[in-house]
Parts: sequence; structure tokens; C-alpha cells
Amino acid sequence: MTKAELVRESRPPLDWKYAPSRESTDIVTVDQRYGLFIDGEFRRPISKKYFTTINPATEEPLAEVAEAGEKDVDRAVKAARSAYEDSWGAMPGKERAKYLFRVARMVQERARELAVLETMDGGKPIKESRDVDLPLVAAHFFYYAGWADKLEYAFPGLDPQPLGVAGQVIPWNFPLMMLAWKVAPALATGNTVVLKPAETTPLSALIFASLADEAGLPPGVFNVVTGAGATGSNLVNHPDVDKVAFTGSTAVGKLIRNSLAGTNKKVTLELGGKAAHVIFDDAPMDQAIEGVVNGIFFNQGHVCCAGSRLFVQESIHDKFVEKLKRRLSTLRVGDPLDKNTDVGAINSAEQLARITELVEVGRVEGAEIFQPDCVLPRNGFWFRPTLFTGVSQSHRIAQEEIFGPVLSIMSFRTPDEAIEKANNTPYGLSAGVWTSKGSRILWMADRLQAGVVWANTYNKFDPASPFGGFKESGFGREGGRHGLLAYLKGIA
Ligand code: NAP
Ligand code: MG
Repeated sequence: MTKAELVRESRPPLDWKYAPSRESTDIVTVDQRYGLFIDGEFRRPISKKYFTTINPATEEPLAEVAEAGEKDVDRAVKAARSAYEDSWGAMPGKERAKYLFRVARMVQERARELAVLETMDGGKPIKESRDVDLPLVAAHFFYYAGWADKLEYAFPGLDPQPLGVAGQVIPWNFPLMMLAWKVAPALATGNTVVLKPAETTPLSALIFASLADEAGLPPGVFNVVTGAGATGSNLVNHPDVDKVAFTGSTAVGKLIRNSLAGTNKKVTLELGGKAAHVIFDDAPMDQAIEGVVNGIFFNQGHVCCAGSRLFVQESIHDKFVEKLKRRLSTLRVGDPLDKNTDVGAINSAEQLARITELVEVGRVEGAEIFQPDCVLPRNGFWFRPTLFTGVSQSHRIAQEEIFGPVLSIMSFRTPDEAIEKANNTPYGLSAGVWTSKGSRILWMADRLQAGVVWANTYNKFDPASPFGGFKESGFGREGGRHGLLAYLKGIA
């Protein structure tokens, strides 16, 4: 044996696995207990009730949070009404803009802290909260700050006026981003806000409240009432709320629509989705694979616009699926605070149970399941990235929103067939198309019944671009100039 061979022999085999690269949580201070943020202060709930929010990756409790009862919601709405009448509603747009610009800059300054907090409370990978959620939150505030003094130019010849008090209810999948989508346009247009964050992810809204307070926002302009569904219901049904903005499930959206029928409240509903992601045989295959992975495994598939139904042209179906399976096997599932993690924790035990149930239904209905062989952490809520082949249009996994890392794959032969299958859903939020033909992209976009159609990319967001649904995905648009309309009167 030569010397070189001897040296090689004595070395342990190289380990090519990723070394852990955990983001420190030192930057975040979580209090043991949070009150309700009303009229510029954290207050004990009149209800005297609290609930615990946990870290879904470890199941460890993070903090106790107040559960707002009817009287608490009433107090918050009264604070918002006074702030609207005393200061905010009549404040010149250019003055309101200063507050919003300051909030935007402070979000940027504290982005790392907020990203870590978001990941701890909700389970999403730190690389997403750090590189997607937080930059978009700041961008949203900057964007609407820019509109605050230009409303007459946004709607020339009209006299746009605020509505009054906005009651806003948001889900747990993008807690701070959903807050930004709702709060930034509401405040920019001169409304005041009472916000109800989701039960499992209340912390970033509470920290944001203290940030807004530090930014000098007048008391009562922004209020947070934490709690569960009942708190949300009390808020949207409060008689002194002028505008209801809801993002969440179609089922709850329908309840809200019913309860508000006959009232004068202005409503926008951003609801569920079951997006079609259509891959033509002339698409750049490797890029399309990345687009599909991003489309369904981003944020564990807890995304209203997730590309959860994949339609692959028949001539490339088998090759595409084989490549996709290989790619799935390289996804790193685990600790959301690790910077290498691709797929984090499922947000709650309830959501995990729903995903597990629907996946079981997929098996029973006869679709073929594939899951990579990754090792899942022992504590916390986890689900392997999953795909189903042999899915037919009538399967529940092709019809119902799973809201998890589960992809249902079908095939098509012609563009007409792709459209027919893609539109065969009660939802209409988003869609994706991959092809190298520009004319085909336009042809498809014209026919897909979806609020957003991405071409040769997926899950791209920008505050200047309106977002919203058709059919059971709701109505109204958030983002862009359209997003102002939901918070103004005086515009036909
Ligand atoms: P959800 O159960 O409808 O809850 C959404 C929010 O409404 C939560 O804050 C919830 O409180 C509250 N709520 C529950 N019952 C209520 C009631 N009767 N009245 C008023 N508020 C009530 O939805 P989710 O499971 O949290 O979120 C997932 C859904 O949101 C999915 O369907 C997804 O597609 C949709 N989504 C849509 C968009 C969009 O832009 N279109 C964006 C993100 C998510 P609790 O948290 O305490 O239950
Ligand atoms: Mg939590």
C-alpha cells in the first residue's frame, strides 16, 4: 500500500450531510403573558381568559395570550371609533404617510427578530420568514405609505373617503404578511383597525402592535384582539364596524357573508384555493420542477394559492413525475429554525389531522402515493412531502383544499383539455402555466378562471400587484391600486 493509500484508508468516510445551521432565538424576547392591545396599551381582558400559543415544531408553550370576549371586542371597536373621529380619519394623507413609512422602516430594522418569532410561533422555515415574509411585509407598508397622499390621483375626479372602523380577521399561514396586506391599505386610506390574528399564531401581531406604538401611531388607530373563532365572530358582527376584511377558509367566509347580509358593512373575503399548475411538453423541465416544488411545498403547502393540482402533458408525464420524485427526496424536512430546512412544521395538531385524513382518503380512493423516506423529528407536527399519481377529477384530493404538502398529479393531452380540467373546481384563486410559447401563455391566461395566473414561475408576490379570487375563493382584491378600493367610499 502506498503512503497516500494508507492516509486515505485511515480517514473516516466523508459525511456529505448538511451540518446544522440553527438561527439563534436570542434576538426574540417573548413575554410570559400578553394582554389585548387596545387604545395604545396592552390591557388585561375583561373576559379574564387566556390561552397558550405553542411552537408547533417542539410543542413547547411560548406564551399565554388573552382571549377577547364580547366586551373586550366592544372596547377595541370603541377605541378605533374614537381614534377615527378624533385624529386619524381627518388627518391629511401626507401626515398619515409619515407614520406608515416609519412603521415600514422599523419592520425592516427588526426584520430578523420578527422572522424568528414568526417561525417559532407558526413553524415555517426561517429562510422563508426571513427572505419572503418579512421583506414583503415591509414592502407592503412602504407601498401603501406611498399612496396615502395620492388618493385623489388614484381615482381622479372622485372624492375618495375612508369608511371608518375596519374589523380584520386573518389566518395562521402568513400571520404578519396577512396583517400587512390588511393593515397597510386600511391605515393609508384613513380607516382605523381592530385586528383578530389566528389562535395559533398571535405573537407577531402583538409585537407589531408594540412596534406601531413605538412608531408613534396615535392610540386606538391599530388594535389587536386575540382569541379564537368566537372572537373573530364578535368582531365582524359588531354593529359599529364599517368594513370587514376576512382571510381564511371558504366555510367561515360563507358564515360571515350570511351574517352580514342586510347590513351596510363593506366586505372583502379572501378564501381558499385549489390551484391548477399546468406543465406543457415544451416547458423547460428542470425549471418547471423547481416551480412545482415551490408551488406546493412552500410554507408546507399552507398557502391559499398553492399549486396543489398538477396537470402534466401526457407526452412528458412519466419523465416529469420521475424527476419530481427524485427532487422530493432531496427536500430537507425538519427544524424550521435551521437555515437549511425546506419544509418546516405543520402549523397545528388539527391541521395535521386534516392533512392525514385527506391523504388517507386519497389512498382509499385508489390514487398512488409517493413519499420520500425522510426522518421526521420526534416532537412537533410533521408531514412528509407527498405526491399522488393516478388521480382523477372526482377524487376528493383533486377537489378539496388539503392545505398541506400534498400534490395531486393528473395529465392532459390538449390545451382545451387542460383548461377544462383546470377550471373544474369550485375555487378560482390562482393558477400556473409552464410553456416556452408566449402565445400559449396568453391563450391559457384568458381562459383560466383564476385571480392570478403565473407564467413560468409560481408564488411570486408584489405589493403593487392585486391578489384575490373568483368563485368560492372570495371577492375583492388586496394589493395594488385595487387594494385601496376595499377601504374607500365615494368611488362608484
Ligand atoms: P379559518 O378557520 O377560516 O380561520 C381564519 C380566521 O378566522 C382565524 O383568525 C379564525 O380564528 C377566524 N375565525 C374562525 N371562525 C370564525 C367565525 N365564525 N367568524 C369570524 N372569524 C372566525 O381558516 P384557517 O384554517 O385559519 O386558514 C386557512 C384558510 O385560509 C385556507 O382555506 C386558505 O386557503 C385561506 N387563505 C386564503 C388566503 C387568500 O388570500 N385568499 C390567504 C391565506 C389563507 P381561529 O384562528 O381562532 O380559528
Ligand atoms: Mg403558535
